[in-house]
Amino acid sequence: MLLTISTTHKQAADLGFLLHKHPDKLQSVDLSIGKAHVFYPESSSTRTTVALLLDIDPIDMVRGKRNLSRKGFSLGQYVNDRPYVASSFMSVAIAKTFSTAMNGKCKNKPELVDLEMPFEVNIAVLPAPRGGELLIKKLFEPLGYSIEVERHILDDKFTDWGDSKYFTLSLRHTIKLKDLLTHLYVLIPALDNDKHYFVNQNEIDKLLEKGKGWLEDHPEKEQIIKRYLINLNALSRRALAQLNEGVELEEEDVSQEQKKKKETLHQQRLTLVLEKLKETGAQKVIDLGCGEGKLIRMLLKEKQFQKITGMDISYSELTKCKERLHWDEMAPKQKERLYLFQGALTYKDKRLADYDAAALVEVIEHLDENRLKSFERVVFECAQPKHIILTTPNAEYNVKYENLTAGTMRHTDHRFEWSRQEFQDWANQVAQNNNYTVQFAPIGEVDEYVGAPSQMAIFKYGN
Ligand code: SAH
Repeated sequence: MLLTISTTHKQAADLGFLLHKHPDKLQSVDLSIGKAHVFYPESSSTRTTVALLLDIDPIDMVRGKRNLSRKGFSLGQYVNDRPYVASSFMSVAIAKTFSTAMNGKCKNKPELVDLEMPFEVNIAVLPAPRGGELLIKKLFEPLGYSIEVERHILDDKFTDWGDSKYFTLSLRHTIKLKDLLTHLYVLIPALDNDKHYFVNQNEIDKLLEKGKGWLEDHPEKEQIIKRYLINLNALSRRALAQLNEGVELEEEDVSQEQKKKKETLHQQRLTLVLEKLKETGAQKVIDLGCGEGKLIRMLLKEKQFQKITGMDISYSELTKCKERLHWDEMAPKQKERLYLFQGALTYKDKRLADYDAAALVEVIEHLDENRLKSFERVVFECAQPKHIILTTPNAEYNVKYENLTAGTMRHTDHRFEWSRQEFQDWANQVAQNNNYTVQFAPIGEVDEYVGAPSQMAIFKYGN
């Protein structure tokens, strides 16, 4: 990925002073996922060009716990556009290589800092999904740039596949270098609408710091903020409030929003599980790891389910479940349909047998991974209900959670969280071992790259 900045300022070589990079030298800096090289393809008194070349290692991106490629499917981790396009990697490289210039400092010639110079910028490949050329114009033109954009077709051998979301962009403006760099720093990732790292309050601070003096009055500020913060609503609202009024929203507002989102996700999950249970035609169902009994309350409302059982290892959860169901005041007929008991999913138990369907909603990730084999034996081999509906978080989606730090899980009691591939590998193997077939479904809004927040497997016994 190549970015070049040229100037025809009357002493063009001043660019080297401003950038604190000598025009005769190639300089390289290490990034977390590769290297950035700075060099000058041309340098004279009439025209000087500096080039920033990113050399991103796609293998480095997927190494370690966190998959920075953000591409869930396994081949996509290695074959994706990230090494070739201008993205948040470019902003990191700009900040790392040109930080002094961006901060408006120049030791040898301080008078250059506030000098407006004619610049021409070329960005070899810039992604602009959901917006394209129009969006590029809307973001740069209000800042005074004149623009040339060339859109690339997806594949020149297959022209009927149409256009891609990639553009070559050339910008011209007479402007201070520090302003040019901060514009690029913010607008490139906003156009790309993706981030290779976790996005949290730090990102708001960076955005507001770099946007100072121009973002407040930009007609597209809302869109810039939203896209820069990869469409995370709570953070975007907070950033906008800070930008507009200089006020900080309370931390609580953000976590409340997050909580609400989580609740609705759980509600979506339970609704889908209920729907799938109904589709199986089951009359006798068991909710394994029923917790406080949210699904059980929903099952009781459906006449189809004649026998409803809840099982959990935790006595306190079962007590809570009884309270929430108003067990003591329940009509005898309802009570007859319901059976709650304490048990463990990793020990054979006769009480688990003879059900048409079992639900396991966000439970397996609470078991130690080395106990999964026992769990498989207990549920799939011994209890052997005709249908098993099982859900678990999709770990790939964690990058989208605003308050989640890299490498951590959604809940302190989770022993593991699986990617879509890991879940499907496990479920396919379990199905094969125990004469089940299995299908998969996403739960919640599906992100193009990381999938949905939660995932479901629907097992059916026999062929
Ligand atoms: N299914 C519920 C609760 C999910 S939380 C819901 O979706 O709302 C996970 C639940 O699994 C907890 O209630 C926990 O007590 C239970 N659990 C954890 N390990 C278990 C085990 N080995 N056997 C049975 N239940 C278990």
